[in-house]
Amino acid sequence: MSTLDQAQQRYAASLMNTFGPPKLQLVRGAGAHVWDADGNEYVDYLGGIAVNALGHAHPALVEAVTTQLQTLGHVSNFFTTEPQVELAEKLLELVGGGTAADGRVFFTSSGTEANEAAFKLTRRTGRTHVVATEGGFHGRTMGALALTSKEAYRTPFAPLPGDVTFVPYGDADALAAAVTDETAAVLVEPIQGEAGVVVPPAGYLAAARSIADEHGALLWIDEVQTGMGRTGRWFASEGVRPDVLTVAKGLGGGFPIGACIGLGEAGALLQPGNHGTTFGGNPVACAAGLAVIRTIEAEGLLERATVLGERLRSGLAADDRVTEVRGAGLMIGLDLSADAAAEVVAAGLRHGFVLNNTTPARIRLVPPLVLTDADVDALLAAWPAILDDAYAASDASDASDIAAGKDS
Ligand SMILES: *Cc1c(COP(=O)(O)O)cnc(C)c1O
Repeated sequence: MSTLDQAQQRYAASLMNTFGPPKLQLVRGAGAHVWDADGNEYVDYLGGIAVNALGHAHPALVEAVTTQLQTLGHVSNFFTTEPQVELAEKLLELVGGGTAADGRVFFTSSGTEANEAAFKLTRRTGRTHVVATEGGFHGRTMGALALTSKEAYRTPFAPLPGDVTFVPYGDADALAAAVTDETAAVLVEPIQGEAGVVVPPAGYLAAARSIADEHGALLWIDEVQTGMGRTGRWFASEGVRPDVLTVAKGLGGGFPIGACIGLGEAGALLQPGNHGTTFGGNPVACAAGLAVIRTIEAEGLLERATVLGERLRSGLAADDRVTEVRGAGLMIGLDLSADAAAEVVAAGLRHGFVLNNTTPARIRLVPPLVLTDADVDALLAAWPAILDDAYAASDASDASDIAAGKDS
């Protein structure tokens, strides 16, 4: 039995089957590369789902986490620590574009928890109605799930917290029609990640801002995936002022941390006793967040994300089996001419690349921001062969479906 078969068997016998069988057993990483248990090397274009901003085993992150853990690892929220306050201040400074924004931060350990904090915060307006978008994704806990439109995720867990209206994403008129004077908040992603990197029309976020203002509703921008430099800017919503901003994925570079940032009056809506967390704001997680931000600054990774993203988008689009390429910075979505996305991911692994499929014909790439020019060259060189393999496998499975008399 292969090493992977053995790992999959032990996995299946000991872990809940929520994710399906793991594709690889990974043992080690460095930069944007990972190695499996058989010694095969891959360029990691998934980056732990937009999490490993500094790649794997970045010395600055290792040093920050190790030093903090050796000094003081956890204290509970009865106490504070220097990394906690410093990271909150730093986030407010980034949101303010260099000068501290007037706001307050609530730290969590994940994206869904950042959104739970934000959801509870919106209830403190005295209103309960939230307008969210079709195709949006905000997490898997009951509150965040109530704000996520995908029926397959929701239906098995009904009833969910109510009073949520979903409107088509990117459609400012639909948003204007749904928001009323009873609306607590408008919730949007600047670019939808889980939907396959869906970019709204220019001016959509600004329209959401003015629609929310007209009705005294909060504008809540979920930057759990787009935030922390992913799109070549600290926040993809830069230029539009949110009332609530949630971040997580890239923030800790792989160390679990999220944040709900309330700006202006929204920063004071949650009061003592309203919310809490044991782990959120843990000094090790906050030290990780500070190391990520400082390294993005020191290594010029925002600019790198922009430059590499442009090269990748134009290089990948050069193959005519790619019908559309979208995104910003190192958040890239592309559509294929056939439902071959799963085959592209499988072929990618055979060629030494970790890729991701969000829908049957859509590929998402969210690699580490420390991706090198050589990593980009490698994918662009292999891309036609990956598509050849994937399309051959997809045709073969269509042919066997037809032979077996299955409908497509
Ligand atoms: C991933 C994601 C979440 C949920 O984050 P978790 O850490 O998985 O709970 C929420 N919102 C967006 C936009 C995301 O991409």
